[in-house]
Amino acid sequence: MVRRLFWKLYVSYLVVVIVCTGAVGGFVLSAMRKVYVSRVAADLEARAQLIAEQIRKPLKQRQYAGLDDVCERLGKASSTRITVIMPNGLVAADSDEEPSQMDSHADRPEVIEAVAGRLGKTLRYSKTLRTDMMYVATPVYIDESVAAVIRTSLPLTDIEHVLGTVAGRVLLGAVVVAGLAAGVGLVVSRRISRPLERLREGAQRFAEGDFSQELPGTHTEEIASLATALNRMAAQLGEKIQTITRQRNEQEAILASMIEGVVAIDTEQRILSLNQAAGRLLNVEIAQAQGRNLVEVIRNADLQRLTKKILSSRQIVEEQITLHDGAERFVQVHGSVLRDGTDREIGSLLVINDVTRLRRLETVRRDFVANVSHELMTPITAIKGFVETLCEGGLEDQRKATKFLGIIGRQADRLNAIIEDLLRLSRIEEEGKSGGFDAVEAPLAEVLRAAVAACEAQAAEHQTQIHTDCSDELQVRMNPQLIEQAVVNLLDNAINYSDAGSRVYVDAEGREGETVIRVVDEGCGIAAEHLPRIFERFYRVDKARSRELGGTGLGLAIVKHIAQVHGGRVTVESTPGKGSIFTIHLPHRSASTEASSM
Ligand code: ADP
Repeated sequence: MVRRLFWKLYVSYLVVVIVCTGAVGGFVLSAMRKVYVSRVAADLEARAQLIAEQIRKPLKQRQYAGLDDVCERLGKASSTRITVIMPNGLVAADSDEEPSQMDSHADRPEVIEAVAGRLGKTLRYSKTLRTDMMYVATPVYIDESVAAVIRTSLPLTDIEHVLGTVAGRVLLGAVVVAGLAAGVGLVVSRRISRPLERLREGAQRFAEGDFSQELPGTHTEEIASLATALNRMAAQLGEKIQTITRQRNEQEAILASMIEGVVAIDTEQRILSLNQAAGRLLNVEIAQAQGRNLVEVIRNADLQRLTKKILSSRQIVEEQITLHDGAERFVQVHGSVLRDGTDREIGSLLVINDVTRLRRLETVRRDFVANVSHELMTPITAIKGFVETLCEGGLEDQRKATKFLGIIGRQADRLNAIIEDLLRLSRIEEEGKSGGFDAVEAPLAEVLRAAVAACEAQAAEHQTQIHTDCSDELQVRMNPQLIEQAVVNLLDNAINYSDAGSRVYVDAEGREGETVIRVVDEGCGIAAEHLPRIFERFYRVDKARSRELGGTGLGLAIVKHIAQVHGGRVTVESTPGKGSIFTIHLPHRSASTEASSM
């Protein structure tokens, strides 16, 4: 059973004190008793000697009758029982009893001793007096032989009484000493156990990782050196924990700031750790994933196969994997064997790169090249066809030849328009990327008026009215030529995709944090499914109509890039049959170069 040190110390102390006082008291009492008994014995012997002198004469004269009186007198005077016994055991006289009534005393040990000529002493129970008695028997010599034995005796009740009083005193003394000693023990035990208790509390704090308070010093050398050792240990531990924490924090910071996802897996396929990027890429909660099996956390057969391959081949493995969590994503996984400090294999390490954007860009580029080739091919094929027809005698028919040349001319214009738009696009892109694009603070109303003027002829042809609404005070930081180009492209579409006689509105206003330019028409509108792709290069809702109208399919792509190089964006809202609203958002902060190559 675990008991507190204080109680252990105190109880032991108490037991020692009680046993010691008990032992000392017992020893004192027994020594006193011995001294007292021997004193009584000596006393009795002296009395016996005195009596012997008194009765020697009557004995010699054999006058036994007077003996009894002498005994009675002397006995009374000395409060002692006196008995005169003949060598044969017969009682000749007794101070207390009638001798004739008394039996032979020949068998009494003290009498046997005295008859033999020695001093006899006994402590024994007297049947006659019914009490413990001390007997001392002395021989009385007459003519060199023992004539009688004088026995003096005293009841021991006196001794017991005296000893009882002494024992009471001793006990009282012992209780006082024990009480004092217990008090001292209490203080001493406290003095030992208190600092130990404080050490225990301090060590408990250390165990809980709190090293802020040092253990207090004490007056006891052993406890003080224990406290010093514990303090030193705590300081070292604190330092080590700090170092480990700092290193871990550094590691975590490095891992957290990595763009690549990093996942460490043990040989049983359990996730040891993963960084934020990995959590994001694999769409898992870091805290929940740790310690769990990879199969449970990421349901991707390719990834599991890859980790198995790393562990079985012990080689670096690199693969592209498709993740299907909602949107399809492509990741490049670089896997290698994970080793601990002693170069032991403890699992595998995966470094994951998101290549979705790269893959998309690749696809966009491939599509773009195919689209450009296709767009250029159509007019070239037409031109080639008509040139061949002309060469094969078509020139002879003047009227047809003129018609064909007209077509060839229009196709060449189309080629020119496409190439011009492509060059414009790439120029905007380049300027946006290199930052070589000039932005100035200029009034927007002027830019809008210039754009409307540029579209006037076309609007007149379509009998379209253009309404402009823009405050002359509205100043915007922009490249005026590019913004004019964007508005012209939007107006061009608004006129082209509206019926004759309809209206087009251009307005601009400053809002919180941005300036918006809106081009609103009442035309055919665009079905919702086309809206997400409308700003892609060469994307057209109605190819035939676009071509017929001389569109290149690049107009909106140019608008989008112009908005992007200004740090803004372009949005569209449209209801088929009712019209469309194209909005260019220009942020108030300085135009940045966020052009994307899409
Ligand atoms: P295009 O040279 O063919 O006009 P754009 O990039 O300017 O090429 O436009 C892409 C497509 O978006 C057009 O082919 C047309 O189908 C659609 N579109 C653009 N603006 C409008 C509009 N205001 N109303 C209806 N459809 C439009």
